[in-house]
Amino acid sequence: MPGIPLVDLAVQHDQVADEVALGWAEVLKATSFVGGPQVSAFEQEFAEFCRVAHCVGVGNGTDAVELALRALRIGPGDECVLPANTFIATAEAVARTGAKPVLVDCDPETALLDADAARAAVGPRTRAIVPVHLYGQPAPVELLDGLGVPVVEDAAQAQGARRHGVSAGGLGDLAATSFYPGKNLGAYGDAGAVLTCDAEFAERVRLLRAHGSPRKYEHAELGFNSRLDTLQAVVLSAKLRRLDGWNAARRAAAVRYDALLADLPEVRRPVVLPGNEPVWHLYVVRVAERDRVLAQLNAEGIGAGVHYPTPLHLTGAFGSLGHAAGSFPVTERLAGEILSLPLFPEITAAQQERVIDVLSEAVR
Ligand SMILES: *Cc1c(COP(=O)(O)O)cnc(C)c1O
Repeated sequence: MPGIPLVDLAVQHDQVADEVALGWAEVLKATSFVGGPQVSAFEQEFAEFCRVAHCVGVGNGTDAVELALRALRIGPGDECVLPANTFIATAEAVARTGAKPVLVDCDPETALLDADAARAAVGPRTRAIVPVHLYGQPAPVELLDGLGVPVVEDAAQAQGARRHGVSAGGLGDLAATSFYPGKNLGAYGDAGAVLTCDAEFAERVRLLRAHGSPRKYEHAELGFNSRLDTLQAVVLSAKLRRLDGWNAARRAAAVRYDALLADLPEVRRPVVLPGNEPVWHLYVVRVAERDRVLAQLNAEGIGAGVHYPTPLHLTGAFGSLGHAAGSFPVTERLAGEILSLPLFPEITAAQQERVIDVLSEAVR
């Protein structure tokens, strides 16, 4: 049997190829590569999809987190609380504003932000909490209510997910998302967006993403050059029309993995937090001797991976925060056990059976 990739972008491209080609031909003919009606159309479509009032397209997901924080005027001297168990971009964006990332541990069952730890980490300088909807399931943001601290969702892995019926992106005061190619809604390059129901925040992100410029050559303040480009907007609109279907296919694949793993006690299946409708950006199991198991899967052509192997506080980038090994024990333990299995909307039952066959061999 041929290898099974972690994510298969080619089979997804086949489904939108004609639409993208037509849309791109129009952009090329108009030679209008930045901005234009395609970008505003996508922003409106994605805002509707997430059921928020405003979507502002930006250059990538990392900038989206930073711009959302800057909309809140967060900067040096401020603190933002976020999970140690996330992709580095979340903490990087906080640090780039000049604020201090205050890391907290994660829940041992769901691997999501530990809300009690987050509440306990809030102090007089805390200007935002940044929960991450890791692996496609929303963090329990309602447990962060009542602190008087804005919530900025990192929704990069959760396009279309819901918590108690509310879409990821609409659970906090602002949200950031990424359309990196491998995300559930992926562009053909870098792209991202900020979501909010607050018109003033949206306006501020629009200003900041384009040189702090309300009108050409007028610069109210220092900004960025971080825009969603027109060619990407065409791809994203074409894919957005199919996203609910693709997410449903991911859900069905997750259900199938759950069933295939039911009799394999050596493998811990993912736990869904009650109230969540995840979109299964990743299907992450836990095993003992993960590195050996991973190597065996990879050797058999199965593109399993680890998200993420090094907790943020143990990376070179964030060593300066001064947290020794042992500071976030749950995150550290999970980093040695987690294993992401291949999952994409078009994965077949035969492919999933093969993954579990090889995994069963490896863990026994
Ligand atoms: C992908 C990702 C980002 C960053 O997005 P980029 O578009 O790659 O900058 C931020 N946070 C999380 C949790 C992500 O998975």
